[in-house]
Amino acid sequence: PMFYEFKPEETVKAAHGTTLRCKTWEAEAALRMLENNLDPAVSLVYDELIVYGGAGRAARNWKEYQTIVKTLKELEADETMLVQSGKAVGVLKTWPHAPRVLIANSNLVPAWSTQEYFDELDKMGLMMYGQMTAGSWIYIATQGILQGTYETFAAMADQHFGGSLRGTITLTAGLGGMSGAQPLAVTMNDGVCLVIEPIDERVKQKVREGYVDEQARDLTHALELCERAKADGKGWSVGLTGNAATILPRLLELGFNAEIVTDQTSAHDLMDYIPEGEIGEVLALREANPDEFKRQALASIVKHVEAILEMQKRGTIAVDYGNNLRGQAEKGGLNVRDENGHFLYPGFVPGYIRPLFCEGKGPFRWAALSGDPQDILRIDRALLETFPDNKLLARWIEKAQAKVPFIGLPARVCWLGYGEREKFGLVINDLVARGEVSAPIVIGRDHLDCGSVASPNRETEGMKDGSDAVADWPLLNALANCASGADWVSLHNGGGVGIGNSTHSGMVIVATGTPEKAERLRRVLTTDPGMGIFRHADAGYELAQDVARERGAKIPGLK
Ligand code: NAD
Repeated sequence: PMFYEFKPEETVKAAHGTTLRCKTWEAEAALRMLENNLDPAVSLVYDELIVYGGAGRAARNWKEYQTIVKTLKELEADETMLVQSGKAVGVLKTWPHAPRVLIANSNLVPAWSTQEYFDELDKMGLMMYGQMTAGSWIYIATQGILQGTYETFAAMADQHFGGSLRGTITLTAGLGGMSGAQPLAVTMNDGVCLVIEPIDERVKQKVREGYVDEQARDLTHALELCERAKADGKGWSVGLTGNAATILPRLLELGFNAEIVTDQTSAHDLMDYIPEGEIGEVLALREANPDEFKRQALASIVKHVEAILEMQKRGTIAVDYGNNLRGQAEKGGLNVRDENGHFLYPGFVPGYIRPLFCEGKGPFRWAALSGDPQDILRIDRALLETFPDNKLLARWIEKAQAKVPFIGLPARVCWLGYGEREKFGLVINDLVARGEVSAPIVIGRDHLDCGSVASPNRETEGMKDGSDAVADWPLLNALANCASGADWVSLHNGGGVGIGNSTHSGMVIVATGTPEKAERLRRVLTTDPGMGIFRHADAGYELAQDVARERGAKIPGLK
């Protein structure tokens, strides 16, 4: 009942245009991004304030949402609102260049940091799961992950298939907030994607949104469609209503071999991974008997991973896509490691993304507060002019313009590195100053970034010096962004891989077009990716050390 009380009569949607309801553009930006996260076109379960990634919420409940909105509207230009797990708990007198909002979500003292203990506190109304960008108000619908997924598949294409996925089939599961990006990311790399999802309406929704090309009637039909597209060398994606734990073993029986197998179901939380069975009954079981539901979910995960491992044995490239599926299967008693303790199939970061992290690259993004898609298209042009030699970027912008629908506030994401982010932040600020875009632009990033996360089963899996679980880095990242002048900064536990398995921070800064803002953008957009250089140089990655030397990131003791 806590969720439904105080629900606003009018459905929440980000305000557009240049009329401020708050006293500063910075507070207005935080408000619009919070609203944008909840917009039913953007969020997964609007009524419960769930934005994406299992139960990732934007505010603790509707009552606390209303309080946050009111507080933001009243916030002075020299005040800072404190948010504790989705609830506004205090307003401080700070100064105009300090963050307007500071957020801490889902954090527990390390020895208490288990899903079970968190769930108890959540039920008592004391906490909220913030995921990564849900509770820090910088989620930009599925596009946010699309580019990261596109980069990952592009890196796989480079490593294994001579630069393109043409003529290959990628098998995966999940068509939710983030996972829904997979089929489009594969077709953008010219490959074929077969994606399994138990909730039929989600398959239909992704077809409507253009993320999936076609829904198959059944498994036989799905295989026909995939094989035909593969033979034609055509980028094509096929959605199949079904459960991965059932379909993957069936595919093995049929002798079907994909080139790549991965998965992005919400396996990080057993309440969100759907066990095998008739979908209506299974969802009813979740309500009626959560413990039994979780037991069945774990058993299905074990089956699912067993099938992935068997596919790998038969020559398919297997990669974990950041949802802790392997970790959960291990909890369920399956052996998922080799004799050296390494996972039998790699996570996508050590496998493909870490070299990008060493250059301070990561999912940089911006959203147009005006609500006008023209603003994003204007910035796209500026991006291509600023980085004329970056071919991957040019291909992304061209494909994104053609294939990525704007959902909620128009936004764009692209991976930029150390030096590049600062440069482009200033370009955006200039466009705002000259009135070439019609309102300020919000600039932020995912928490999955080069220097903002400790997550031993994902971003920091298999670090060169063994520092996988060292969580000082994301804490320093948040502190450094506050010191540099970001507009809102957040610190979370458990994003992506579940409570206790990660610590990560977020930052957002609003380009308002003023010279003072240019100074802050310069500092923040250097500091933030700079943390990625420090982190990877410290762990012994030579590429990061070279980048530090070449681009002037100061590291004490680095020769
Ligand atoms: P979501 O809850 O919005 O969607 C997950 C989807 O998986 C749902 O539609 C659900 O019905 C489906 N699903 C559940 N069990 C299934 C099963 N047995 N077979 C087939 N489909 C099943 O979550 P999301 O936002 O899409 O995120 C998915 C996972 O990816 C989460 O664990 C999240 O933490 C992780 N994640 C990874 C990255 C990354 O960069 N790799 C980024 C963000 C999130």
